[in-house]
Amino acid sequence: MIRIGPRDLSASAATRLKEYQSAIDRENSYEARVRRAQKDFKAHSRNKKFREIKSALASMCFGPRRCMYCEDSVADEIEHHHPKSLYPELTFVWPNYLYSCGSCNGKKLAKFAVFDQSGKAVEVSRKRGAPLLPPLSGDPLLVMPRIEDPLELLILDLRDTFCFEPRAADGSRAHSRARFTIDALALNRRPLLQARCDAYHSYRARVREYGSARNARRHRLIQALGRMPHPTVWQEMRRQHQSIPELAELFSEVPEALRW
Ligand SMILES: [Zn+2]
Repeated sequence: MIRIGPRDLSASAATRLKEYQSAIDRENSYEARVRRAQKDFKAHSRNKKFREIKSALASMCFGPRRCMYCEDSVADEIEHHHPKSLYPELTFVWPNYLYSCGSCNGKKLAKFAVFDQSGKAVEVSRKRGAPLLPPLSGDPLLVMPRIEDPLELLILDLRDTFCFEPRAADGSRAHSRARFTIDALALNRRPLLQARCDAYHSYRARVREYGSARNARRHRLIQALGRMPHPTVWQEMRRQHQSIPELAELFSEVPEALRW
């Protein structure tokens, strides 16, 4: 998962979202707002007027519309960071949107957790058939790549497993947030580990190719590298290069690659 750059909506799209949201907010009970959120999102997100919102999200994705969570598959589903089934007041709120692939959206569903007043992590996901009550309030655990850099909390193991792991020590708030994010999104599912390993070798090959290429071709190689999947692998290769001998050697041969 990588940090997503900011993007504003046009005034007309922003107004449209506001109108949709107001209709939910006007319902007179939490239960009614939850039901309305599900129904309205299903209806509005399929209509033509929602195209601009989808294309704005697509333009924020890395490379050719890579999923904002796994960076692997094509994103084609609007994902609510705060699930609309728990937070109907955020159903049509632009900063709550991410663009994800079906696999990530299907894994995450309405999994959510917050820190309670004592700082303990509490899952607030609603069980099937449970009454529609508002969730406990508190800061969320799930990392939000639109407002924070996921790599502040996560580290990718480039030496062996290609798994994401929490950066902070066990027992800390940062550790809980990283662990919950990795598990809720199944960021270490097997196909992703293989894809990250393949990306690692491809990035290395591209840098080596750059080292021996003529000037005219070098620019194209940098551009091609920017379109490759799994940009986090590339970011981590640069962040961790001093502690991994084969990367230390690679970047000592092409030091400018640290600034690409
Ligand atoms: Zn995904």
